[in-house]
Amino acid sequence: MGGDREMRQPQRGERKLSPKPQPSEASGAQFRPPRATKINLLNPETSSTNPESNSPMKAIQVKQTGGPEALIVADFPTPEPKPNEAVVKLSAAGVNFIDVYFREGRYKAALPFVPGQEGAGVVTAIGSEVKSLKPGDRVAWSGQLGAYAEYAAIPADRLVSIPPGVSDQQAAAAMLQGMTAHYLSHDTYPLKRGETALVHAAAGGVGLLLVQMAHNIGARVIATVSTDDKAKLAREAGADDIILYMQQDFESETKRLTDGKGVDVVYDSVGKTTFEKGLNILRPRGMMALFGGSSGAVPPFDPIVLSQKGSLYLTRPTLANYTASREELVERSTAVLAMVAAGKLKLRIEHTYPLTEAQKAHRDLEGRKTTGKLLLIP
Ligand code: NDP
Repeated sequence: MGGDREMRQPQRGERKLSPKPQPSEASGAQFRPPRATKINLLNPETSSTNPESNSPMKAIQVKQTGGPEALIVADFPTPEPKPNEAVVKLSAAGVNFIDVYFREGRYKAALPFVPGQEGAGVVTAIGSEVKSLKPGDRVAWSGQLGAYAEYAAIPADRLVSIPPGVSDQQAAAAMLQGMTAHYLSHDTYPLKRGETALVHAAAGGVGLLLVQMAHNIGARVIATVSTDDKAKLAREAGADDIILYMQQDFESETKRLTDGKGVDVVYDSVGKTTFEKGLNILRPRGMMALFGGSSGAVPPFDPIVLSQKGSLYLTRPTLANYTASREELVERSTAVLAMVAAGKLKLRIEHTYPLTEAQKAHRDLEGRKTTGKLLLIP
């Protein structure tokens, strides 16, 4: 399995150092220590006692980074909220490629930790400073570790309300990948009607949502996928042209499809195997939005190439920077969940796994077997 180039290789001697939290694509600038090991059952600042705090809960724990077998089921005390937190009883946790990077240790979190960056459920307890939420509220989040669990304590300012008409599972499926598709198509390169976008891995979690958003804007979408089944899904999502990039050369195909003009933007989550050719299919002053590395990291790169290939733009965006303020988080999540409620954004929840089968979910995702969204159900 390849990783994201953003994830540097360990340097000589580095293993002797204690792991430092690293910024990553879906999370905020810093990772908090593992929540499950820092639960304070006697937190005096908790204004609403969690009625379920005496009972143990199940969560997935990573004690040692590694393969899927690093995901271990463990018992924890149900968390109590810190003053600024709410405890959420999860209905569903989203599985994302970034979870693989954390599990492998390519993105750093202090060990042991509870993985998972995205969840939805019902508030069971709030800290003393939390005014905006109350027990019983339905909420969702992304970008905070700890979602592979029955309960999670999350900073209240990172939680958003789930609107009527959107189920908890839909919210868990839409937050991370939906907001990613939204910022890419609306802000990184704000697509316009009549423009042409190339979307790689178009039947994946982000891919299917990005195709729909680009199509709804009125752009022409050229989609790459690895199989006929995935091609069908991408077409149903609104792709105008499909390229089976394991069988066809997507560079020459895209040039043919655009009469040699090239595309306005390439949304590339695949990285290593697609990046270079992607630069060759951009129109002059087009944009390469490299937002992941499912096939591995892009090798070091000389910016002069951007000049030689037509004064191109290259960006390596990250969801955390597009949801950094509370205002932007609420604006973006509201827009995405409203699309879901209105039926304008169809979520393909391909598979739900019991929480205890997190290992299988990871094997399937890494094995390139999945389409759309995978959820863990506690
Ligand atoms: P996907 O559901 O898209 O799964 C990855 C897909 O990548 C596969 O299904 C496969 O599609 C394709 N792929 C191509 N080469 C490989 C390979 N060698 N190994 C495995 N898969 C490969 O995952 P997500 O939607 O969760 O994430 C997609 C990417 O977007 C990830 O790289 C992730 O890190 C990134 N991401 C970035 C964010 C950001 O803000 N920057 C936020 C969210 C995700 P196919 O078989 O059709 O080739």
